[in-house]
Amino acid sequence: MKCKVCKAPAVISLPSHNAAFCQEHFGKFFMKQVSEGIRKRKLLEYDDKILVALSGGKDSLGLMYALAELGYNVTGLHIDLGIFDSSKKARSVVEDFCKDKGYALKVVDFEKEGVPMPLIKKHIRRPICAICGKFKRHYFNKVALEDGYTALATGHNLDDEVARLFANTLRWDQAYLSDQGPLLPAENGFAKKVKPLFRVTEFESANFSFLKGIPYHHLPCPYSGGASFTGHKMLWRDLELRSPGSKRSFYKGFLDRGQPAFAAIHEGRKDYEVKPCEECNCPTSAGICSVCRLKKQLKQALEESDQ
Ligand code: SF4
Ligand code: ZN
Ligand code: ZN
Repeated sequence: MKCKVCKAPAVISLPSHNAAFCQEHFGKFFMKQVSEGIRKRKLLEYDDKILVALSGGKDSLGLMYALAELGYNVTGLHIDLGIFDSSKKARSVVEDFCKDKGYALKVVDFEKEGVPMPLIKKHIRRPICAICGKFKRHYFNKVALEDGYTALATGHNLDDEVARLFANTLRWDQAYLSDQGPLLPAENGFAKKVKPLFRVTEFESANFSFLKGIPYHHLPCPYSGGASFTGHKMLWRDLELRSPGSKRSFYKGFLDRGQPAFAAIHEGRKDYEVKPCEECNCPTSAGICSVCRLKKQLKQALEESDQ
């Protein structure tokens, strides 16, 4: 197996691109996938002030590295969820990585905010991952709004996007299908949201981080497990093995033809008004936002448990 570009021995084979690459040319291939994706889908401008969500996983750290290498103005944002060793490890990997590379980093500590996930799990009887996701999105938006960031970038890769699209398609969920994609424009006080890794697979992203020597944390969250997305990813892995390129064509076809059609069907259906939350100022359609309501619920549960 030889590199498609320089004919040196290849270190990675990518059947979906009908290509194999040496270390140097795989790095270039990966960076080109990212920069072309940003350019073609108009995700970012060079004057954007970008906040990159850093979980400590390979995708988010690889994304930060790639955007910085491409010359974008990036700051990392890590949310310390307070979930035992898993969060401690994630935070130290992110802090060391940013220090080592000289990247700006902000950290939101859920313990200090009074909302560590184990406390929420103990006192609020709702699926913890749904609440965790809600809190993370809330704080990303909050930091972006308060500190004037124009874009919020996350490390979702092609596998993540295909699994989400597949789940939305299984339910024919018009609302989600009308705005799924690598770009969610700024709206109602929310910064625009971008997913610059939407063209690269989990395999490519893991290899990029590995070959660039980017350390990442892989201590699983003790609350993970059983997510339907994981099952969908397995199905797509099999499909991709039988028919290389399926993921890419499914997602690209959706972006080119499916999403615009769903957006047209769904246009004008948003019949709610978004206003600043009465408690925290973040945009909401419900007077008091769901995160502030959950915080109140937690406070009440803690007071009752003290009595
Ligand atoms: Fe949060 Fe659930 Fe992910 Fe753990 S597995 S970090 S609780 S979303
Ligand atoms: Zn080469
Ligand atoms: Zn609020």
